[in-house]
Amino acid sequence: MYWEPDKECLDREELEQLQIERLQSTLTRVYAHVPFYRKKFDFVGVLPEDIESLSDLARLPFTTKDEVRGNYPYGMFAVPLREVVRIHATSGTVETAAVVGYTRNDIKTWSNLAARLLAAGGVTKDDVVQICFAYGLSTGGFGLHYGAERIGASVIPASIGNTARQIKIMKDFKTTALVSTPSYAMLVADTIREKGVPVSALSLKYGLFGAEPWSEEMRRQIQDTLGIVATDNYGLSEVLGPGVSGECLERKGLHINEDHFLAEVIDPETLRPVPAGQMGELVITTLTREAFPMIRFRTRDLTCILPESCPCGRTGRRMSRVAGRTDDMLVIKGAHVFPSHIGALLQEIGGGELCYQIVIDRRGAMDEVTVLVEADGGAFTGQERRQAGLADAIRKKLAHELGVTVDVKVVEKEALSRVEGKVKPVVDHRKL
Ligand SMILES: [Zn+2]
Repeated sequence: MYWEPDKECLDREELEQLQIERLQSTLTRVYAHVPFYRKKFDFVGVLPEDIESLSDLARLPFTTKDEVRGNYPYGMFAVPLREVVRIHATSGTVETAAVVGYTRNDIKTWSNLAARLLAAGGVTKDDVVQICFAYGLSTGGFGLHYGAERIGASVIPASIGNTARQIKIMKDFKTTALVSTPSYAMLVADTIREKGVPVSALSLKYGLFGAEPWSEEMRRQIQDTLGIVATDNYGLSEVLGPGVSGECLERKGLHINEDHFLAEVIDPETLRPVPAGQMGELVITTLTREAFPMIRFRTRDLTCILPESCPCGRTGRRMSRVAGRTDDMLVIKGAHVFPSHIGALLQEIGGGELCYQIVIDRRGAMDEVTVLVEADGGAFTGQERRQAGLADAIRKKLAHELGVTVDVKVVEKEALSRVEGKVKPVVDHRKL
């Protein structure tokens, strides 16, 4: 289901024309109204009018999270406060947060973009949408709430916490769409299973999850337990909040709202663009934000642009689900590898039942990774031969997906140390 078909399915050529026009107007505005950007552009000697094509964007400097924090609280606003109707902030302590503002138009745009991802994930005006994100300074709750209202759905601002109460609301209010983080959906699924609530007692049809990395395996479990279709969506407060990109019902990557955001994917070390299909750091430039425009913002989120077009008909390029953060990046034999990516692959292999630990050491300038896996999950129990087979299967899968070989050891059941019953997924000796 499209929310704004004329925009979501815009011809690529028209889209690029719109992007360059919006980019030029954004650059002119920030140069005139935000001293931070004026200084940066002057430093590299590039004026807004020098940016004549989308590829010229690479001539402009990046903006980092530290720079945004350094302008706390209002240093990066491009309009006077009297034009700002809403203020949000990123999580963390107040003084180290990024404070973001929205004009009336920004709120309207945001509602439409959140409506796009909700509609793409199946939500219509006939749905009852339960929003289990915090309603506060962070952008999750309000962003998706306005989007669901825009569609005309019946919105329950359930916020977070008290899972038993959430499930009671879900049952009694006949919630058809759950909006939350994927890990909260897992908690709901586990609680429903523990309490023996039959899925037939619920009216759930769709789950729209975002705000943290998750895996295909998690999606499978959530979909199976709750009997829903689960889609992934992405956004971050510094550039908007939820609504930057979202999956359609094909569930194969998130369509970027490219009429509002320019997305680049770069190598986090060389800072040069990587080709489509290759993992790197997502960099976003906003094209329509009035109060808080962002130029080449380094998100620290890892993703790749998917080269194929989507059968749904949307023309916005898709990004893969976020695989982790560049801050966690390891360098193994010259390749860039992320523990969260290894974790997701292990869950796929083990069907979620695998207990594992990724141990990281440093030798010289290189990181060394050993993956310890407990031989306790279903098909892999017992004999040494099977354990060797498991280690081999994991090694092959990781080599194939990561492009490097890592050390894999299968250990006995319960051999990995536990804290409060849980195995720590990553042990990093480099920081000790
Ligand atoms: Zn699609």
